[in-house]
Amino acid sequence: MTLTRRQTLSLGTAALAAPLLPSAFTWSAQAQEDSMAEPDMLGDELSIYPISHASLALVTSGLTIYADPVGNAGMYEGLPPADIILVTHEHGDHYNAELLAALTGENTQLVTNPAVHGMLPGDLQAKSTALANGESGTIMDLAIDAIPAYNTTPDRLNYHPEGRDNGYVFSLGGQRVYIAGDTEDVPAMRALTGIDLAFVPMLLPFTMSVEQAASAVNEFAPGVVYPYHYRDSDIEQFKALVDEAGGATEVRFGPWYA
Ligand code: ZN
Ligand code: ZN
Repeated sequence: MTLTRRQTLSLGTAALAAPLLPSAFTWSAQAQEDSMAEPDMLGDELSIYPISHASLALVTSGLTIYADPVGNAGMYEGLPPADIILVTHEHGDHYNAELLAALTGENTQLVTNPAVHGMLPGDLQAKSTALANGESGTIMDLAIDAIPAYNTTPDRLNYHPEGRDNGYVFSLGGQRVYIAGDTEDVPAMRALTGIDLAFVPMLLPFTMSVEQAASAVNEFAPGVVYPYHYRDSDIEQFKALVDEAGGATEVRFGPWYA
């Protein structure tokens, strides 16, 4: 995987002919039109943009999905506007109401867990569909399943109590996608089948260990997995544990903390 920073410099000139200015007065404008890294691809149609930590965008010619957008609006410049924004849960590294408002256009639809739905400002709530664990919905012809995301280890239960937070599964660009959210290796994750692309967290104490994540991934066997939401966790060890299992899963790293 090669990620290159593409920076396009636009030089525009225009002549101004105003009575009080020399007729040849010109100025130039410079704009950095696109500072977004080149996306990873899966198949011919699905572009993958790791943005930061737990924030990402998935883009096809027909649909653009942002998941858990946080940070500032500049981090999303250069991307197509979101058709659908998914929010997994209320924590600040996943949910930022101000940024959501900035990224939500006239035709953008939001999908959240019920807890976040209840926190949204009214204008955003009007564009939001709440899906509880195990529920499915269809938004802009995209069928989305809400997968339970929660802690199972006794001293971590307070971070993500069972029943509150979501992961999401949907098909986009011919690929079946799973965005896990903040979770341990829960049975609903291990039971997934037919996943082509997965985003799996590994960060203690809030989610799970590298070993738990690799064990779950080796069970549900996605075609491609990105470790995300990992900060200083040992993703090389995660990759080694997945590779050693001898399955067909490809571990990809993204510039989540670049
Ligand atoms: Zn969380
Ligand atoms: Zn988190």
